[in-house]
Amino acid sequence: METFDLAVIGGGFTGAAAAIQAARDGLSVILCEATNALGGAASLNLVNPFMPYCTERDGKRLVLSAGLFTEITENIIALSDEIEGKTKYAHLPMSTFNEEYVKIVLNRMCLSAGVKLLFHARLTDVEAEGGKINAVTLATRSGNLRLAARYFIDATGDAELTYKAGFSTRLGRDEDHLCQPMTLCFRVANVDKEKFAAARRTVQEKYKELRAAGKIKNIREDVLWFPTTVDSIIHFNTTRIVKRDPTNAFDVTAAECEAREQVLEFIKFLREYAPGCENAVLISTALSIGARESRMIDGEYLLTKEDLLAFRKFDDGIAACNYDIDIHNPEGSGTSHYYFPKGEYYTIPYRCLVPKGSVNLLVAGRCISCTHEAQASCRCIPTVTTLGQAAGAAAAVAAKSGTTVSDADVKTIRANLTAAGAFF
Ligand SMILES: Cc1cc2nc3c(=O)[nH]c(=O)nc-3n(C[C@H](O)[C@H](O)[C@H](O)COP(=O)(O)OP(=O)(O)OC[C@H]3O[C@@H](n4cnc5c(N)ncnc54)[C@H](O)[C@@H]3O)c2cc1C
Repeated sequence: METFDLAVIGGGFTGAAAAIQAARDGLSVILCEATNALGGAASLNLVNPFMPYCTERDGKRLVLSAGLFTEITENIIALSDEIEGKTKYAHLPMSTFNEEYVKIVLNRMCLSAGVKLLFHARLTDVEAEGGKINAVTLATRSGNLRLAARYFIDATGDAELTYKAGFSTRLGRDEDHLCQPMTLCFRVANVDKEKFAAARRTVQEKYKELRAAGKIKNIREDVLWFPTTVDSIIHFNTTRIVKRDPTNAFDVTAAECEAREQVLEFIKFLREYAPGCENAVLISTALSIGARESRMIDGEYLLTKEDLLAFRKFDDGIAACNYDIDIHNPEGSGTSHYYFPKGEYYTIPYRCLVPKGSVNLLVAGRCISCTHEAQASCRCIPTVTTLGQAAGAAAAVAAKSGTTVSDADVKTIRANLTAAGAFF
């Protein structure tokens, strides 16, 4: 059995950032990912674009998700320039991106930092005692693999490692445990984008009219779409599945089937009613339906909506965020927003990454310790990347001084993160 200083489970932006930072800080790191690529929701769920991660102070742009996220986006732009020449969408702050470049950039950054990658490796079992994880088992292409490490980071999005290790987790919102809807994203080619964009309002009105008449069954209230880096291809985020548990295998299967019918219904709508989409062709649905929210850990601090609304800055803050409190209705139609005023942001305390009673496990990504409302803001890709980077830096500090994760020196973690370009 191989032993590492750190095992990171889950290779989304969170897990990749955690692994890169910890390896750069001198740890031997393995990053285990269930699929065949890094990028998490961006690769697996076709999530696009990066949601906003900047604000403005004193007339100047302030990048809140700095550090590794900036480095990743710069590398995506450099790769896209190398292959396609200067592309229209590749500028900072970056929003629309090509997920194929993401996969390559994250591979390269991990490998050059010395991270050992293990793909097609799904965590199945955890050996833990007294708050300490000793080993994990992953189902891999070569059978079951048992792996030991001094420290672990759970970057599975679903807090899978934390849950399996027996730590306390919560699901969705407190009152009924419903989570934000699941969505199967999809891409449509052969679209005259200019024509489609110009008819934006007419398309929304027609969609709403057909929904009201019961001719469209999808419960999503409107058409949510984004451009891609290819002019004739449009990204749609328009399916909506509610009241299904993203951690329940049968619920997820039912959600996949239901969402696929919504996709078909939507393609028919586009071809019939949307200008520019007369010859539209469905070219891909995501490999997996995406879950905006599922389990969240019970950590040393619970980040709340009140913290966000007070723009609270914590002494142990390790990440900054101002993305809106963006709640897609867990019960049906409608999406609510609270937008932060210009120049304002909140920070996320290190304690949100530490499960109560944990000796050697940290958690980062959309499953940190926060309420349903707070998670609705801090769940987006730029922010989770900064949380991953912070977890990697913290694991390195704990490993070097031989402490538990809750005793890791926060001042050193923050100083190391600042030196690595992070902002909080
Ligand atoms: C439909 C949808 C639309 C969204 N839209 C946007 C958007 O436009 N912009 C934006 O910035 N954010 C958006 N988000 C939010 C954002 O994509 C996610 O919150 C964020 O990517 C979560 O990052 P993560 O690293 O925590 O988890 P993920 O990105 O989900 O990564 C987790 C990784 O862990 C792996 N994994 C899981 N379980 C195991 C296991 N047992 N063993 C091994 N590996 C495992 C998964 O394969 C995955 O690669 C959206 C989310 C969804 C679902």
